[in-house]
Amino acid sequence: MERNQEHMKVNREEIFRLLEEGKKVTREQILDILERAKRKEKITHLDIARLLYIEDQDLIQEMFEVAGKIKRDVYGNRVVLFAPLYVSDFCVNNCVYCGYKKENQFHRRKLTMDEVRKEVMILEEMGHKRLALEAGEDPVNCDIEYILECIDTIYDTYNKNGKIRRINVNIAATTVENYRRLKEKGIGTYILFQETFDEEVYRRVHPNCIKGNYEYHTTAFDRAMEAGIEDVGAGVLFGLADPRFEVLALMMQNEHLEKRFGVGFHTISVPRLRPAERVNLETFPHLLDDEMFKKIVTIIRIAVPYTGMILSTRESAEMRELLLKYGISQVSAGSCTGVGGYEEHIKGKQVSQFKLADERSPRQVIEDLMKAGYIPSYCTSCYRTGRVGEKFMEIAKTEKIHNMCKPNALTTLLEYAVDYGDEELLQKVETFVREQASEIENTHIRNFVLKNIDKLKAGERDLYL
Ligand code: SAM
Repeated sequence: MERNQEHMKVNREEIFRLLEEGKKVTREQILDILERAKRKEKITHLDIARLLYIEDQDLIQEMFEVAGKIKRDVYGNRVVLFAPLYVSDFCVNNCVYCGYKKENQFHRRKLTMDEVRKEVMILEEMGHKRLALEAGEDPVNCDIEYILECIDTIYDTYNKNGKIRRINVNIAATTVENYRRLKEKGIGTYILFQETFDEEVYRRVHPNCIKGNYEYHTTAFDRAMEAGIEDVGAGVLFGLADPRFEVLALMMQNEHLEKRFGVGFHTISVPRLRPAERVNLETFPHLLDDEMFKKIVTIIRIAVPYTGMILSTRESAEMRELLLKYGISQVSAGSCTGVGGYEEHIKGKQVSQFKLADERSPRQVIEDLMKAGYIPSYCTSCYRTGRVGEKFMEIAKTEKIHNMCKPNALTTLLEYAVDYGDEELLQKVETFVREQASEIENTHIRNFVLKNIDKLKAGERDLYL
């Protein structure tokens, strides 16, 4: 494929044109799009615009079914778990939607390396193996050296059998050189939320701050990938601008990266605006209701079947369970969104960037997932075996990824129960793992899982394909 060398540019006029055209959608057109989507054929920008205007309940239900089928075909019943770790709330920005905005007066801090270790020990004690490292933007108080040191500390912190095996990093847009240094530290995905692709809104919600540079922010993934980071994760903060505009722009950026680097987003997050300190949600005219939110998740699932989708604890347990059916493949569990939040949480205090809607413990999340027929997974093997970027997408597209993901997911679930569960949980998990393993047709893969049950009980760890 001939690769484009240009940076990402949002084509505003084209998006408005597509949305105007999309409004005129007919029933027949929708049925035709869904038929093609079922076969996982690539759908066009105009198809996406049309789906964004579906109103008939029976068509909406049909769209959910198609998204659900894609979800099952590509991801099976696995759900990857992770937790965020906030290391610094210093911030020079004034993002109007964020509790960390500069104008909010509170005692700001960043974790010392001892504190990072303590937080990681707590997260490991909860069973986590995969973290998303989060920080406000402050080039002086929280520079790249500090972030790199945090990464080293996290990877070097062990709590009995606990170890963080993958750190995804969600820090502000930065330079190619800094991305290169992150890559050298062995990060998983570099995550950055665009917040909004609507340039006018973007400028309005980022007054007088470094982050207000729309062009720099929108081209961050170009720089990250130029620096050799192969897995990048996008997101839009739904509630800031017209969600239909956002979805089309997101898909265009995905295609831009595919054309330029051979692979698009590894994951897409779908955060919705939440209440936060001195953030009045009534001042945001584009808040997304539950119905539109569900449509958006399913449309993204249909448009990019092989891109992981992440839902955080900004959403309620009920919404999370529902959307796991129609598209979501990763969820956070037991999260705190404050610096030192896990220790504070233990002491019962609250310091957060925004309010959570799901406060269940990881154990509760795991039990609820299993009850609903999902395999909670702590697997990090793709990244550690080099199945990243273009290579990952190639395997994902053959839909053979189950052959690795399912046995790995079951193995990590049992590892969790052996290390962090009581007798009752261990028994429940073992029964569940045996049942799930019995559905694996390939004898070699099924035996891999069954043998791992004994190996894990005998003390072996970190087993994967
Ligand atoms: N400071 C970094 C940046 O500028 O990209 C990291 C981002 S922050 C730690 C993580 C994300 O939280 C933001 O990108 C934003 O989308 C989201 N966020 C901020 N305020 C929020 C709110 N009130 N409700 C929901 N999500 C919010």
